[in-house]
Amino acid sequence: MPDLPHTAAALRAVVADRTVSAEEVCRQTLERIAALDGRLHAFLHVDADRALDRARALDRLKVPAGPLHGVPIALKDNVITRDMPTTAGSHLLDGHRPLYNATVVDRLERAGAVIVGKTVCDEFAMGSSTEHCAFGPARNPWALDRVPGGSSGGSAVAVAAGLVPIALGSDTGGSIRQPAAFCGIVGLKPTYGRVSRYGLIAFASSLDQIGPLAHSVDDAALVLSVIGGHDPLDATSAAGQPFEAAGGRRDDLRGVRIGVPRALLETGVAADVTAAFDAALGVLTDLGATIVTIDLPHSRFAVPVYYLVATAEASSNLARYDGVRYGVRAAADSLGAMYDRTRSAGFGAEVKRRIMLGTYALSAGYYDAYYRKAQQVRTLIARDFDTAFDAVDLVALPTTPTTAFRFGAHLDDPLSMYVADVFTVSAPLAGLPAVSVPAGLSSEHLPIGLQLVGRAWDEAGLLRAAGAYERRTPWAGRRPRVLDA
Ligand code: GLN
Repeated sequence: MPDLPHTAAALRAVVADRTVSAEEVCRQTLERIAALDGRLHAFLHVDADRALDRARALDRLKVPAGPLHGVPIALKDNVITRDMPTTAGSHLLDGHRPLYNATVVDRLERAGAVIVGKTVCDEFAMGSSTEHCAFGPARNPWALDRVPGGSSGGSAVAVAAGLVPIALGSDTGGSIRQPAAFCGIVGLKPTYGRVSRYGLIAFASSLDQIGPLAHSVDDAALVLSVIGGHDPLDATSAAGQPFEAAGGRRDDLRGVRIGVPRALLETGVAADVTAAFDAALGVLTDLGATIVTIDLPHSRFAVPVYYLVATAEASSNLARYDGVRYGVRAAADSLGAMYDRTRSAGFGAEVKRRIMLGTYALSAGYYDAYYRKAQQVRTLIARDFDTAFDAVDLVALPTTPTTAFRFGAHLDDPLSMYVADVFTVSAPLAGLPAVSVPAGLSSEHLPIGLQLVGRAWDEAGLLRAAGAYERRTPWAGRRPRVLDA
């Protein structure tokens, strides 16, 4: 059996024309996971029987189920799956098998995708490395002593290592784009409201969005076209904002104006990242785009604003797991096992830290000084983008200030990990779509990401530019060498 195509679009084509069966694709996927995941730990749970059953059912259909017919997919473990464990990386939800599917799960299955399992993430999606996963971190396939990024690190590893062609993550302050950058793949955070959050275990509800991790911009667009769209079960999901994957490719960017907030990039960015970013701007210029210096004056406050807003919302969202106040004790007969775990394991240190920060920011004496102020500055950050988008079509930034760091590098100093989110937190605070695409390798052979931010609802324009860049560079589809050793 020859190697299967590594993109979802190409794989779907060979399954749909019956060159290979969905069952065979599924078998090879499961074999590769079995061979490699011991070293990578991308998965918390693999459901081989369910995946094979589903693949065989697809093979029995007379016509392909949809645009992901036979394509294996992995889901971050904060996306709720019926009868399949869903822990959000927390001991608190150990053994939890939900009774329903997230909307995105139903949509993927209707489109023919085969869900193979659930991936490692930081507990309740709080983190940038997967080191806060209660069940242990995932490892970066480019260098096994490095973090894959987080919090959707397991999904990024599963794609980067070729275990699955596509995966879903969730992005609150960078959790799709940052691991995509660290692992050398594409990661897309959609416009807030584009993708239903129904069945996404909440971290910070005004920021959370589900999105794809993929090998190509086209695959990311394909997944978005399947999972996006209005959902009556999520009051924040928008109606009347259609997105078509086949929104027209372009191989030049003539007439496209790209803004670069130079003042934000002056300090704290690693030399390799700056060099790759400048080279990427050169490629965009060669494609015909005009690079314009812009000012996003309030984005320098984005990290503190994000960590006030996100922790405040998290403290409110996670109150439901407080077994003492919300009656788990009363239901201890049926929930006895879970109650014991709540007491013995409970939340990890990072989640506790965030609940305390958020509770403090929302407390009566400090609400005006912290939470209200943060919301005001959040509005100013969004307005800066509005102003910038009068003059430019897209904003370009590095995705991260450094390449993937070593395990433990930030664990004693949580603030130093927060600060590294400097380039990813503005887009969700402003509700804007943003994508990270591979933009080269550092001198240590570690991936670097180029981030593009678009106007609200303009994923089509955003992905057209990202796709044109991707096709002009040699970085797309590069696989980590470490796995072939
Ligand atoms: N790293 C950020 C945080 O720790 C972002 C997390 C996310 O997007 N879920 O909050």
